[in-house]
Amino acid sequence: MRVAQLGSGTPELAVVAGIHGDEPCGVRAVERLLDERPTVERPVKLIVANEAALERRVRFVDEDLNRTFPGHPNAKTHEAQLAHRLVEELEGCLTFSMHSTQSHADPFAIVNGVSETAKELVPQLPVAAMVETSQFAEGRLFSKINTIEVECGLQGSETAAQNADRLTRTFLTAVGALPGDTVCRELPVYQLTDVINKQRADTYEVFVDNFTRVDAGDPFAAADGDTQVANEPFYPVLMSPNGYRDVFGYAADKLDILTTPPAAD
Ligand SMILES: [Zn+2]
Repeated sequence: MRVAQLGSGTPELAVVAGIHGDEPCGVRAVERLLDERPTVERPVKLIVANEAALERRVRFVDEDLNRTFPGHPNAKTHEAQLAHRLVEELEGCLTFSMHSTQSHADPFAIVNGVSETAKELVPQLPVAAMVETSQFAEGRLFSKINTIEVECGLQGSETAAQNADRLTRTFLTAVGALPGDTVCRELPVYQLTDVINKQRADTYEVFVDNFTRVDAGDPFAAADGDTQVANEPFYPVLMSPNGYRDVFGYAADKLDILTTPPAAD
């Protein structure tokens, strides 16, 4: 784990990259901040988390770090030890953690509960949606640390790296660490409700688009040509044929659209 800091004093803000070793976009954003060393108005901790997995370009060495929190100092796996150290580093920090996916090119945010912090900050980020995943929080970083996760785009793409850079700078502007203004946008909010399992097969297909409503009776995916049909309407999130080993992705409800509050006098 690499830990660095912009500014002096005890940080209450952190930017985390490389929770997953096969998602290099956030690492680029952190390295650029370290190269440019912008003057900050609040100190910011910068962390590249799973360096061992990043070196091997794999999601993890022993187990998925983002299912391993809070971890333990004497744990048997690399990731469970790392989870413990990461929680120690991030204690008391509002944390911005970058990921990328195989399912969706446009950035979106993932939060554990629609908190006041999430409602204030996420509409200022260049994201298309906010996804609330508190029913699936177990073992994830944001079960222990106040965290906004962002999916920056497609894994390994140049666009995801550029998005990670823009998202990080906008986050740091929104929290007053970097100077400047942000723009608020209308933001749909989704809540994950179910896992969409996939049976063991040789070929997988997904017929629907993420964040686009699937109606009851619609076919949405297939495993070896065996088609799955929706029993009830849902919004697919993080759905892809081969992104995860055991699941196609998640089903969500659409909760709300956050709108910009009227400006105070
Ligand atoms: Zn990830």
